[in-house]
Amino acid sequence: MGTSQTAVRTREEQIAQLQGEIKALARERNAVILAHNYERAEVQDVADYVGDSLGLSREAAKTSADVIVFCGVHFMAETAAVLSPHKTVLLPDLAAGCSLASMIDAEQLRAWKAEYPGAVVVSYVNTTAEVKAESDYCCTSGNAVEVVNSIPADTEILFCPDMFLGAHVKRLSGRDNIRIWMGECHVHAGIDPEDIRLQRSLHPQAEFLIHPECGCSTSVLEAMSAGDVDPEGVQILSTEGMIKRPALSDADEFIVATEVGILHRLRRENPGKRFFAANERASCAYMKVTTLPKVKRALERLEHRITVPRAIADRARLAIERMVAIGGQHPMSAVPSPSSDPGE
Ligand code: SF4
Repeated sequence: MGTSQTAVRTREEQIAQLQGEIKALARERNAVILAHNYERAEVQDVADYVGDSLGLSREAAKTSADVIVFCGVHFMAETAAVLSPHKTVLLPDLAAGCSLASMIDAEQLRAWKAEYPGAVVVSYVNTTAEVKAESDYCCTSGNAVEVVNSIPADTEILFCPDMFLGAHVKRLSGRDNIRIWMGECHVHAGIDPEDIRLQRSLHPQAEFLIHPECGCSTSVLEAMSAGDVDPEGVQILSTEGMIKRPALSDADEFIVATEVGILHRLRRENPGKRFFAANERASCAYMKVTTLPKVKRALERLEHRITVPRAIADRARLAIERMVAIGGQHPMSAVPSPSSDPGE
């Protein structure tokens, strides 16, 4: 007992020391630290801003810092580099990839486009800058239906790379001229309708929150619009909506369908309430490769710098700007009963 208490204290002290060193280095470098909601708790705690990919991109675009340390995955740092071409964007570990973004590359997309000349390409934000450059629109889970509805009804659409979001959008838009790329995020496999039914039966008083950011739970969105998940009492929420919801709700317990990293912030900001993951195994290994020593090294050595060639960045920016312009004016789901707010 005494030994383990000592070990816990030591680890906490080590974390606090590293966090202090990182903060001091960030001041020296005039750097801002951005962390995604799915990062390790201690990385979230050292960040200046914690949020979802679009929210972090917006922070990256408006910051006055010279250096952006992006504690997230590669495509997010690329998006920050596209939106802030004159800033130094650092990714602490280049292994921070994304299984969904790797499902399609620019060459594959060009070949797909060649099969359907005249089609409009809508890409989920979880794509490389090169794929965005080949796309007409980017979208988030929050505005995918709106983006698709803004395209003339007789125009064919190629939707990539998230097949669950694609199926959901196809169902809700009522269009049959959408072709869907068969990509998926591996984390969704930990959040299936069976897990959800089990958790809801174990916690019948709990509110059920869905956070479909990042492809990790677009499968739940799709299962709900297909009727496989009961929409009664469901809240579909963006990151900020999710963080605020517990304080607004009478419920004391919440089941959360998302990557488990967001539970840290929910618990920290709502200490009087209880949160249960739809499935504790829904964890993104790519998000967890970033550690405090790597953040410190990134600041010391100004590595790994993420850049996007100008020609690609200029085309990718167009698709991203269209995404931001259509961003979340309406609720993200047309499924009748659950309440929702614009997601990112
Ligand atoms: S949760 Fe899925 S979509 Fe998000 S970064 Fe991880 S692998 Fe990619």
